[in-house]
Amino acid sequence: MPTSTLFGEVHDTPRADAPVGPFAAVALEQSIDRSLDYSIPEKLIDRVQVGQRVWVPLGKKNRPTAAYVVAIHPTTTYPRIKSLISVEDQRVLIPPPLMELSRWMSRYYCSPLGTVLESVLPSAVRKRVGMGYQQIVRPVHDREHLQSLFEKTKAKKRRAILGRLLLIEPGEGVELVRIAGEAGVGIPTVRKLVRLGIVTITPQIDLPKFNESALSASGNEPDIALNADQQKVFDELAPRVAEGGFSVNLLMGVTGSGKTEVYLQCIRKVIEQGKRAIVLVPEIALTPQTVRRFTARFPSVAILHSGLTATERHRYWQQIVTGRAQVVVGARSAVFAPVPDLGIIVVDEEHEASYKQDQSPRYNARDVAIKRGQIEKALVLLGSATPSLETYYRVGGSKREGEAPAEPKSSTDEKPGSAGASPSHQIPSRVSINNHLLTLPNRVRGLQMPHVELVDMKQENRFRRGVHLLSQRLEHLLRTTVEAGHQAILLLNRRGYSSFVYCSSCMNAVQCKYCDATMTYHRSPGANVNSAKLSVGIHTGQMHCHYCLAVNPLPDKCPHCGKKLSLFGLGTQRVEEELAKKFPELKFARVDSDSMRGSKDYEATLNRFANREIQVMLGTQMIAKGLDYPNVTLVGVISGDTALALPDFRSAERTFQLITQVAGRAGRGDAPGRVVLQTYMPDDPTIRAAIRQDFVGFARNELVSRKQVGLPPFARMVRIVLRDEDSDKLIKYSEELAAQLTEAAAAEGSAIRMRGPMPCAISRIAGYFRNQIVMTASSTGPLQRVLAKVREKGHLAKNERIAVDVDPVSLL
Ligand code: ADP
Ligand code: ZN
Repeated sequence: MPTSTLFGEVHDTPRADAPVGPFAAVALEQSIDRSLDYSIPEKLIDRVQVGQRVWVPLGKKNRPTAAYVVAIHPTTTYPRIKSLISVEDQRVLIPPPLMELSRWMSRYYCSPLGTVLESVLPSAVRKRVGMGYQQIVRPVHDREHLQSLFEKTKAKKRRAILGRLLLIEPGEGVELVRIAGEAGVGIPTVRKLVRLGIVTITPQIDLPKFNESALSASGNEPDIALNADQQKVFDELAPRVAEGGFSVNLLMGVTGSGKTEVYLQCIRKVIEQGKRAIVLVPEIALTPQTVRRFTARFPSVAILHSGLTATERHRYWQQIVTGRAQVVVGARSAVFAPVPDLGIIVVDEEHEASYKQDQSPRYNARDVAIKRGQIEKALVLLGSATPSLETYYRVGGSKREGEAPAEPKSSTDEKPGSAGASPSHQIPSRVSINNHLLTLPNRVRGLQMPHVELVDMKQENRFRRGVHLLSQRLEHLLRTTVEAGHQAILLLNRRGYSSFVYCSSCMNAVQCKYCDATMTYHRSPGANVNSAKLSVGIHTGQMHCHYCLAVNPLPDKCPHCGKKLSLFGLGTQRVEEELAKKFPELKFARVDSDSMRGSKDYEATLNRFANREIQVMLGTQMIAKGLDYPNVTLVGVISGDTALALPDFRSAERTFQLITQVAGRAGRGDAPGRVVLQTYMPDDPTIRAAIRQDFVGFARNELVSRKQVGLPPFARMVRIVLRDEDSDKLIKYSEELAAQLTEAAAAEGSAIRMRGPMPCAISRIAGYFRNQIVMTASSTGPLQRVLAKVREKGHLAKNERIAVDVDPVSLL
């Protein structure tokens, strides 16, 4: 039996005939789901460290293969041990706390450790982009000894090298290439001196000149004086920062309540303690204003954004790992920034789905942040106006509202931040003492929350001729807003022109050839918005599939019955058209992923909006987040219903979050804000709660129904999606896997509820049929054990056909 199991644990029973240790357990970069043991050659014993990238021989042919050292131990029971080839990079690429975090992720998210490490370590660092190595030659003996060697030596070449070595200052070294060149000898001749014990040659990183301007140098903006609410929150956090140690703090503050200011001052406090900070933001391109506030406040902030070149990325990493960046700001993967002396991790808008990675390892950066905080004894500060129900429940928010208190977690729970299996960070079983809820119930400077009013679109359409996406009320307010010199934001969370292309005689909507989904019609970018009519014939544009990204021309008649097709449903392009028709003078911009080619476009549009060159911004959720423009007094939600009907148990939560977030853009200046919420479902409880902007009421309702049906946060969930181009094959191996899971689940009694295999809500994407198996249990322990068992048998090996999603955020 191999020494290293799936998780790199070690059996330390020595064997009489076993080779001599120490041994390095390594995780291969290619996604083999176990770690392997190698002996460490004598000459490398002092050099091999956990977290390094090394070369090991693999397979019959001993093919050199890249791997990471994940542990070093004195013994192995592996019978035919091979020896490690070389250390590829002298640096410890994965510092010990991150190695521990990676192992946890590998277990928890059911992903090979090598795959996890690939996420943890930027590829630019792994490939050493923009950074070379130098081999440094150093004399072993003092100058006197060298002198006598020089005098004794007859060999001309060796004498030349010795002569050059005499010129080196004591304690210094010289680059291998250089000394060879200056002595007029080949590199092997210099290397020969190592064997003779005259010099040592050690690799040394050729550090790039640090580009200080890459770190913001401006950061000396003073702190704002906190208001009473903020001060109260800060006074509670400050001692926790000062003491150090792990805690999870939810800062639940309404939009515009000054959460960011609290983050900034907590970070200030952390820096005063000689520690450092990581700040996670949902999507860096979408939060330029937030990011700027960090660079303005602190002198060395590393911003990890997607626009960095590989070289820049590597330099930032080097700056971070050497402790030169006080604050690291970035999206999801910044949670792995190798910050030494980590004091705080801030997760802004902690409820955002973009924190979840949708490929292996399918981690949620918020949960990884909590685990990292636990490992490194750091304070975790989660902020949101609309926290996820998981977080709200965790910090006991529901308890305040008369809900059942959070159940005590079992000690095998692997939920991030609870007592894990690893004894090194065992914490008392009452984990809740580490969880805190802090609130900012009011906007700063006495500003009022915007007033939200509902427009029932069913009523509206009854009395109005033609098709209108903007209600009379919204039109009226838009007009008065613009006339008053104020600005407005219009949200419609759907791209394109119309959501279906539909035949009204045979009732068929045009489907994507490759997906179980309808095609969405998009107009050509150049089309004149004023000339369009709602009949297909004169439209120029194409049908897009939002799942496989297929693009087809619009058929001129129904493919089934040959009758005329109509465009149905709405998208941002159609609102754009209506705006242009109804407000010919209006200066507005459409902001969605079709109209914005990249973050530069987006920032340029935001700048024009900030300068008031644009009066109205119309767009998808891209404009719902984090924007702080005091002149915006009106927000229109074109359709509050778009997400409500999605077959996902979080659709109500998403809807509430999105409406609240976008509503929060209004009234941030001195003039009060108004929100118009258009809906076809005026009585829906989520819509009603959104009108009152009542998170607590919404959460109470939603938690009651989640509890009744046993859904998160009252249960933990694992979703396994299988796919194949051949539907018969898919059914066959879905059933095989289900049988394996059922067998493993039997040991857990009735703890696990399993549903499926059954087709996913979208049962085919890009030509692949999709099946799912969903398992739930009241705690994560049983689920983890079942996954581990089935995984150890090799049934959950990472491959194209199977995706294990622990704590899924999307169920489509
Ligand atoms: P949130 O993150 O909760 O939406 P922000 O931190 O963005 O709120 O604060 C909203 C605005 O209020 C920002 O322009 C910020 O500079 C300002 N602000 C924050 N705290 C204060 C304060 N104590 N006094 C005055 N203005 C403040
Ligand atoms: Zn498709």
